[in-house]
Amino acid sequence: MGSRTTFRVATIGGIPIRIHVTFLIVLPFLAFSFGQSFVGAARLAGIPPERLGGPPWAWGLALAVALFASVLVHELAHSLYAVRRGGKVRGITLLMIGGVSELAAPPRSEALMALAGPATSLALGGAFIGVARLFRGELPNVSFAVFYLGQLNLWLGAFNLLPAFPMDGGRVLRGALTRRMGPVRATRIAARFGRGFAVVFAMLGFLTANVLLLLVSFVVYAGAEGEARDVELRAALGDLRVGDVASPLTSELGAGDTLLAVADRMRRERRTAYPVVGEGRVVGIVTAHAVRRVPAERRGDVLAGEVAREATLAAASDRVVDALHVLGRPGAPELVVVVDGGRPVGTLSQLDVERAIELRELEPPPVAGAAPHDAPFTRRA
Ligand SMILES: [Zn+2]
Repeated sequence: MGSRTTFRVATIGGIPIRIHVTFLIVLPFLAFSFGQSFVGAARLAGIPPERLGGPPWAWGLALAVALFASVLVHELAHSLYAVRRGGKVRGITLLMIGGVSELAAPPRSEALMALAGPATSLALGGAFIGVARLFRGELPNVSFAVFYLGQLNLWLGAFNLLPAFPMDGGRVLRGALTRRMGPVRATRIAARFGRGFAVVFAMLGFLTANVLLLLVSFVVYAGAEGEARDVELRAALGDLRVGDVASPLTSELGAGDTLLAVADRMRRERRTAYPVVGEGRVVGIVTAHAVRRVPAERRGDVLAGEVAREATLAAASDRVVDALHVLGRPGAPELVVVVDGGRPVGTLSQLDVERAIELRELEPPPVAGAAPHDAPFTRRA
């Protein structure tokens, strides 16, 4: 997630909390709609609007902010559980449709981590409703707002428990299935559930003109697809390291080389990218694409340093699956592979990875009985 679209607002327990711009866009909208439904619900509960005190939008805004605070508590439950169980959390981002805990490494039990969020929301909901009861006599308006917030939390917990992978309930489902059939098949099945729910959400969203539900359906659908693809890739790539599949470098470029020489060397060595090296360190990358953009007759006058762009580095010891996430980003069609000390040893492109997957298929199958019992990567003979 780019830093231009999110900004950091706090750090809790070492976990950075960020807010996405879409959250700020949806806040007034939520304040308005909560204000409307709050007044309506209060009337149903026998509280006349004039006894609420304060305009509906103020109640709506307070509720919207409190709801997002509740979402944050829900995400913190996931993240703090993950950290305590050996996982690594990059941060929590609050978005228009809820929160996301970004994991750098999953904890030992994904299912329990997934349960921690909804369980916290349900407990919070029950606690709010209990507190609301206490103040019912003296402060009917505050009591009603707290009651309403309690209901929102119950709803948040229950909705997230739906087995709509990658929502929390779907992760619990995948965790249960993984124990029986390994991560690849489990994810495939959980993703099927996720896509099915996404279609149902979309239909309900259309029928009730609920924009948020429509957005949730898109996010769930794309998330299910993406995670399924990711697990298949992980299975195909296994423990391969970047250094094993990169195209090795036979020579380097200096910033002072002309594009004429660069183009010549690219054709001769059949490469489409070279790191530009200065004083033993990578200072940029020149791709065939960048050379092509300079007209052929000018390539004798333009230097590699002038068309080089910032290089994205990957360590030779990095896992290929992790490097692939970086490769997928715009602006990083090829990574420069370095060993410790920053010396470049190769480049990595999508093509290198595809070739590695194909070559891996040629490996002899593992000897029967020798594979670890939950190895998802072993093929049946
Ligand atoms: Zn959750």
